[in-house]
Amino acid sequence: MSQTLQAVRGMNDILPEQAELWEHFEEAIRDWLRSYGYRPIRMPVVESTPLFSRAIGSVTDIVEKEMYSFEDSLNGEQLTLRPEGTASCVRAAIQHNMLYDGPKRLWYMGPMFRHERPQKGRYRQFHQVGVEALGFCGPDIDAEQIAMCARLWDDLGLTGLRLEINSLGQPNERAQHRTRLVSYFEEHRDQLDSDSLRRLVTNPLRILDSKNPVMHALVEAAPNLGDHLGDESKRHFESVQQTLRDLAIPYRINPRLVRGLDYYNLTVFEWITDDLGAQGTVCAGGRYDGLIQQLGGKPAPACGFAMGMERLIALWSDQGNRIASAAPDAYIVHQGQAAERFAFQVAERLRSSGFAVHMHVGGGSFKSQMRRADASMAPVALIIGDDEVSADQVAVKPLRAIANGDAPPQQFQVALPNLADALGDFLYSE
Ligand code: ATP
Ligand code: MG
Repeated sequence: MSQTLQAVRGMNDILPEQAELWEHFEEAIRDWLRSYGYRPIRMPVVESTPLFSRAIGSVTDIVEKEMYSFEDSLNGEQLTLRPEGTASCVRAAIQHNMLYDGPKRLWYMGPMFRHERPQKGRYRQFHQVGVEALGFCGPDIDAEQIAMCARLWDDLGLTGLRLEINSLGQPNERAQHRTRLVSYFEEHRDQLDSDSLRRLVTNPLRILDSKNPVMHALVEAAPNLGDHLGDESKRHFESVQQTLRDLAIPYRINPRLVRGLDYYNLTVFEWITDDLGAQGTVCAGGRYDGLIQQLGGKPAPACGFAMGMERLIALWSDQGNRIASAAPDAYIVHQGQAAERFAFQVAERLRSSGFAVHMHVGGGSFKSQMRRADASMAPVALIIGDDEVSADQVAVKPLRAIANGDAPPQQFQVALPNLADALGDFLYSE
């Protein structure tokens, strides 16, 4: 017997019950983005590999060890399944000259791929909502993006998310800090793990991002980037904070927050929960003023963030939230050939009035059809037999009490032309 085929490790099926929850989330997210003036953009899932090594930085976790890269066997091109969306979004904006008439607020949603060790909240195919404001330079857009996250948590009923922010300053400020950081870590070379020893040469700032507990004390005592910020950078950071205070959004400055991607400068932020174990960051982002130029576009500032859908949905469910079941408004039960033909017409008629109708298919006894009707959770069964066909009527059988928990009302007959109105009255009356 052949072996049963399984999904690839770390890449999950999202089964109907979960998928309905995803749709609920996606709808809330679309409404939320629209209310801040963001417009959708859809980029391909596969891009040429150098896009990511150039954008994300060649000594980041993503580029060093997490990318699904392969050679196109037909033309030898180096390709990668996107590990994140910012690089693609910026590439698309440059390619289509989207900033020619001013800044743009853009968003996208979709699968991302990273070859990581699968565990709760960490998968190899996962989904992000990415939000990018291209061409905006002021701290106002940074603050607005942080504030919009706070609003989404509120819209979704999520609690317990805390905000951490930091400023990475400008490249020249980082260079000064880097020099001090390197001498500090050189002095404590014997305490560095192998990853950090490598980063000491390639990207010392990233040592601050180390998740190795052994390194914790050393990292805590390292020189602060904040001490190297110039006046401009300080003003920018202060202005972001002022808006957060004005909007009563609590935050904590975390001087170790450096983010795992190289393209950030000035404001960076993360939204973190303690309810998901080690994978507690549900949303992360910041300013990336150099990226557009770095990828070959006309210099333009930008700011963005990405949320992990799996982590958001897990948190939402863990916090006891549920969505209403996706029951149809009515289930149609029918017996006999003429009744079936009539039932099809009834079903279409109701759907064109906006009702969700589950038509029984596959035959079976009246009793077994009624069992299905019950299992569908529809509030009513519409019963059609020969008598109904000849009278141009439908029998409406309430299956459950609508609002008040009393026993369901008695079955009643409705003439076909009045059915949509009668069903509406029945479903929406208190
Ligand atoms: P982490 O430190 O958890 O690896 P990251 O810094 O690599 O996160 P980003 O690249 O900033 O993550 O991605 C933004 C968000 O996408 C994260 O905050 C998280 O919610 C989500 N995310 C990132 N990687 C994964 C993954 N492998 N599985 C599920 N969600 C992920
Ligand atoms: Mg990561």
